[in-house]
Amino acid sequence: MKKNDNNKNDKTKKILVGLIVILAIIVLSTILLAVYIKGNDEKDEKELAYTELIKEISNKNVEEIEMTVGSTTVKVKLKNQEEEKTTIVPSTEAFMELIQKKTEDGNEFKLNQKPRSVISQIATTFISLLPTFIMVALFIMIFKMQGLGEKGKVYEDTERKTKIKFDDVAGLDEEKEELIEIVDFLKKPEKFTKMGAKIPKGVLLYGKPGTGKTLIAKAIAGEANVPFISMSGSEFVEMFVGLGASRVRKLFDKARKLAPCIVFIDEIDAIGSRRTSSTGAESENNQTLNQLLVEMDGFSSEETIIVLAATNRPEMLDNALLRPGRFDRQVTIPIPDIKGRLEILKIHAKDKKLSDNINLESIAEDTAGFTGAELSNILNEAAIIATINKHDEIENDDIEEAVKKVTVGLEKKARVISDKDKKLTAYHEAGHAVVSRYLPTQSNIKEVSIIPRGVAGGYTMYKTDEDKYYISKTEMQEKLIALLGGRAAEQLVLNDISTGASNDIEVATKIARDMVTKYGMSDILGPIDFQGKEPYEMQLFGENIGDKIGLEVKSLIDIAYEGAKQLLIEHRDKLDTIALTLLEKEKINEAEFNKIFE
Ligand code: ADP
Ligand code: MG
Ligand code: ZN
Repeated sequence: MKKNDNNKNDKTKKILVGLIVILAIIVLSTILLAVYIKGNDEKDEKELAYTELIKEISNKNVEEIEMTVGSTTVKVKLKNQEEEKTTIVPSTEAFMELIQKKTEDGNEFKLNQKPRSVISQIATTFISLLPTFIMVALFIMIFKMQGLGEKGKVYEDTERKTKIKFDDVAGLDEEKEELIEIVDFLKKPEKFTKMGAKIPKGVLLYGKPGTGKTLIAKAIAGEANVPFISMSGSEFVEMFVGLGASRVRKLFDKARKLAPCIVFIDEIDAIGSRRTSSTGAESENNQTLNQLLVEMDGFSSEETIIVLAATNRPEMLDNALLRPGRFDRQVTIPIPDIKGRLEILKIHAKDKKLSDNINLESIAEDTAGFTGAELSNILNEAAIIATINKHDEIENDDIEEAVKKVTVGLEKKARVISDKDKKLTAYHEAGHAVVSRYLPTQSNIKEVSIIPRGVAGGYTMYKTDEDKYYISKTEMQEKLIALLGGRAAEQLVLNDISTGASNDIEVATKIARDMVTKYGMSDILGPIDFQGKEPYEMQLFGENIGDKIGLEVKSLIDIAYEGAKQLLIEHRDKLDTIALTLLEKEKINEAEFNKIFE
């Protein structure tokens, strides 16, 4: 399917390039012609000013005047002169009148009227038609794009049914069980309608990116052996104004012809987000969303079109989408637990050459919080790294490196770093590490490094814990302290702070805000969900509720920052030891780290 996608993209590109070339040729040739004509008209030797010409006529000094229809340039032959001169007249009509008057007054000269030259005739026509050409070209372009959209995107997967089956989706057993019903609907709709059951129209798949939503949607189509028509919400938004709604209509027209089938709308939040104020892009979205609602309400349950939609931001969705008869079923696709991770790794290890001593279980243990996409990515990166390292098979260290590459980015050994920056990074990372060490709820340190990776100047890696379902308030508070440990160390040791802590601050702020507005962990505000509320809903909680939330978030952060500083002051010797070791060795592993604290 990927290949096919590329082909279609290539086609669009080719047509676009073609149109641009045609336009360029039209414009260029026009310019050339215009220059040619001008040159032709003006290459005459001498100019005679208009007033001079009139004088000469009055003085009966003119022998011959040559005019070209449609041109203000006239050629004048004066008596007693060999050379012809040219004069630009302000207006041919006025000039003709003038000449007529002069001849009536008894001035005699030959008037030679030439028809327009062929080239100039062509050119003039051409120039006057140019806007039309451009318009037509533009129309064709828009038309093609729209047309290609239909063929290239919407109809993309229709001829080929997907071969993906439920067996290709690892873990997610309960979700599959829930969705197998949909497969039944698609296979034998009569069975259900005979019983008087209404077939569901829409199923929303909630889940973080990479958890396998697209994969499971394709597997449903594959199991039911029906066509899979897909579109992504963000594509609707990128399009020309007004086209979103028409694309939706066409998508469903096609679906009706192919029924039974699956329509998959990825990133539905891009079109289905809450309708708030209606300005610009939003009202465009509204049209698209309204069209989607109309289509979903429109098809009867006998048509057996099932719309699957995916999003990672369910709180953004417009309530209208969730009403009965629309997306009234919702399935959450979770991040895999350890068992799920192992199964995903097994599926993706099938086509990889793994060394015998690789233990997928231990990888699964070490990758809590990873999505299916990340796990599959790790194995792929490991295969690449093994190839580069000229290993015969994928070894354990290839996988370890791949995990780091996927989580923190590629190691950038070549980057030159000033000693000052190195010191800053060393203290920053040492700050995280020391603080975490003294926080009971925080995970153990696996590795601290000041070798830059990806965008990070250094990193502190923790050992991943067993999968947790709940996180306590104490744990979150201590997490905040650990996150701010880097910044606190910079402040404490260098008496200055840097931009290096921006990601820590971003994460910490999000945690603190969630604690207050989502998990009800603020004593002052209590267990109330404040997230994703409209302004008028917020007002129900009292005036200035936003201020109170802000103050609570800030106080959580302030307390954590103070806590981090206190810990670092208390254990300043360890902070210095670790920072100096980092400056010397660039990396500290788990054993070396623990030794410092013995
Ligand atoms: P989403 O649509 O939720 O963002 P995708 O379905 O596109 O995620 O998943 C991306 C890739 O990750 C899949 O193509 C597959 O290779 C892998 N993957 C994700 N989840 C699973 C899973 N449960 N089993 C097997 N592979 C998975
Ligand atoms: Mg997807
Ligand atoms: Zn940091």
